[in-house]
Amino acid sequence: MTSKPIYTCSSCGKEHEVWPALCYNSPTAYQNLSAADQQQYGQLDADFCIITYPDQTDRFIRITYTQQVIDHCENLEYGLWVSLNETSFQDYADHFREDDHENKYFGWLSNALPEYDFSKGSIPTTVYTRPNQQRPYIIPHDDFDHPFVHDYYNGITKEEAERRVQEMLQQNEERDIKNKQSKPWWKFW
Ligand SMILES: [Zn+2]
Repeated sequence: MTSKPIYTCSSCGKEHEVWPALCYNSPTAYQNLSAADQQQYGQLDADFCIITYPDQTDRFIRITYTQQVIDHCENLEYGLWVSLNETSFQDYADHFREDDHENKYFGWLSNALPEYDFSKGSIPTTVYTRPNQQRPYIIPHDDFDHPFVHDYYNGITKEEAERRVQEMLQQNEERDIKNKQSKPWWKFW
């Protein structure tokens, strides 16, 4: 076992483990395509994803999401994707990384976090762009009844946050063993 990275917390003065941000490299819709379909229909880079099906085009951007942790000094950070409509996507692309452009859009959460059931659909969010080359962040709509929304507004426990970090680390290892050729569909940084 290697020792886990720790840091001295500036708010309580104690040493804490460093939690990686839980990041997804692409929206779940893209992950679910076969390699051939990703080639044929998909376009993906670090901030944009477009899937051009024969009958429909879906547009996604990469955003950040902060999950509050109620009994700890740090929150859990995510790197996720949301889908935007064509007008919002174009506006975001047109002003990408302009420092003075701040806007907000409607976006659907587009990563199926394993802790939640999304079988009835996704989560409506507001996407806020930020200055200084930072990725936009999202806030789920508070009137939407779903455990994901509940957790955003009420927080999760430190124990739950650590479980999520461990689960992601484990998934990464399993995936690496199963398929060394393909890149994992999410990564930390
Ligand atoms: Zn602390």
